[in-house]
This record gives sequence, C-alpha cells and structure tokens, in this order.
Amino acid sequence: MTESFTAAEASDAAQVTCGERRAAALAAALSALVERIDAACAAAGRTPGSVRLLPVTKFFPASDIEILYHLGLREFGESREQEAAGKVAQLGHLSQIRWEFIGRLQRNKAKSVARWADGVYSVDSDRLVNALDAGARAALDDGSRTTPLRVLLQVSLDEDPSRGGARDAALRALADQVAASESLQLAGLMAIPPLDVDPDAAFEQLARIHAALTTVHPDAKELSAGMSSDLEAAIRHGSTCVRVGTALMGARPITSA
Ligand SMILES: *Cc1c(COP(=O)(O)O)cnc(C)c1O
Repeated sequence: MTESFTAAEASDAAQVTCGERRAAALAAALSALVERIDAACAAAGRTPGSVRLLPVTKFFPASDIEILYHLGLREFGESREQEAAGKVAQLGHLSQIRWEFIGRLQRNKAKSVARWADGVYSVDSDRLVNALDAGARAALDDGSRTTPLRVLLQVSLDEDPSRGGARDAALRALADQVAASESLQLAGLMAIPPLDVDPDAAFEQLARIHAALTTVHPDAKELSAGMSSDLEAAIRHGSTCVRVGTALMGARPITSA
C-alpha cells in the first residue's frame, strides 16, 4: 500500500512537520521569554504578571500568530497597516484575538486601523488624534467596534521628530484632547529609547514624564516600554507592557520599522 502514497501527500506530510517544528520553536522561545520577564520583575521587586507581554509579529505570517494564539497569547502588535489588515482578515476565526497598532501611522490609514485595532500605541500629533477620533466614531456608529479605541501617546525621548513621538512639552495638550473624545480612551504612554542612549537613563526620564501625566490623568496607567534588547531596564523603571519581536519570533527578514 505504500506505493499509493502520492507526491501531494508527501508534501502535505512535510508541511505538517515544518509547521510542528515552528510551533515547537515558538513554544520554547515563549517560555524562555516569560521566564526572562518574570526574572526582571523579581529583580525589580515587582509582582510577576504585573508586566504584559505584547508579542510583535510584523513581518511574520498569520500562521505564526495562530500558533501563539493556541499557546495562550491573545493580543498581537503590528506596525504596518496593510500587512496588519491582511492578517486581521485572515484570522477572524480566532474569536478572542486583539490587535494593537504600534507603528507610525499616516492619517489616511487611521480610519482603517480604527475598525480593527484595540489600541494605537504611536499617537503623537493633534492631527492624528483628530483622524483617529473620526475613525473610531465611524466604527462605533457602524458597529465594527463596540469600545472606545485605546490610545497611548508616543513620547520622543530625544526630541528628534523624524523618529516619531511627541515632545514632553506637547504631551499635556494631546492627553487632554484624547481624554475629551468619547470615541477614544487615554490609556497611557509609549516610547522607544534613542539608539545611542543608555536605556536606564531613557526609561527613568520616561517614568518621570509618565508620573507627571498620571497626576492629571490618573487612568492613563499604561507605560509601554521595553523591547527584546532592553526589557529588563524598562521593567526596572515601571513598564507595564513590553513589546517583544525578535526574542520571540526570531530575526526579521528586514529590520526597518
Ligand atoms: C518592531 C517593534 C518592536 C519589537 O522590537 P524587537 O527589538 O524586535 O523586540 C517594539 N516596538 C515597536 C514600536 C516596533 O516597531
């Protein structure tokens, strides 16, 4: 009977093996990462589980997200609108999945993102707030979303506008603008430290900016800081959400964005 094993079946079997190998690799990377986050919490005297892991899946296929979902993860960070919208459409059958948009966002994409994202982590201008407000209001009206869009304001820690993020001096007005919108919810702050700066110093500065914001907006509790290379420093300085790509997924095919 072995002769009836066709080339198509052989190729299916090979794919299953390949998929299983990827699932095993992701499971191992996830458990190592969770241990690393727990160890960083312990070293900082923080409760394990007080820091959320947001896996960053840009450049990786929907099949990887499906594997991570079955490993128990429910929210996923994406940074490129078109790629993300495609994955959202492909993975609609995963009933509890949530999407966070963490990359630079053009205003003309705000309407699309407001339909499918739970939150946007990279809001840094009044014009983008206006576009997201209109997009989220339309999505609430037509039923494509049922809750306000969570907004994290992105802070620039080096005041270099080309890298995204708002200056400290502009944050208060942006926060007030988001808080005044019924379609948006001011959730907190996000930052990416400049490459040439000691991450401890950058995250300490960010923590001070966050503390000042929460005296005025006490519900803006989220502080999304820390990636694969610097999550320990971010956790030392109060991060509530690390965004991790490489340490979980492996190296990206392209390293921009
Ligand atoms: C890609 C990306 C990450 C993840 O970076 P890694 O160094 O791969 O962990 C985190 N935050 C943002 C905004 C990103 O674009």
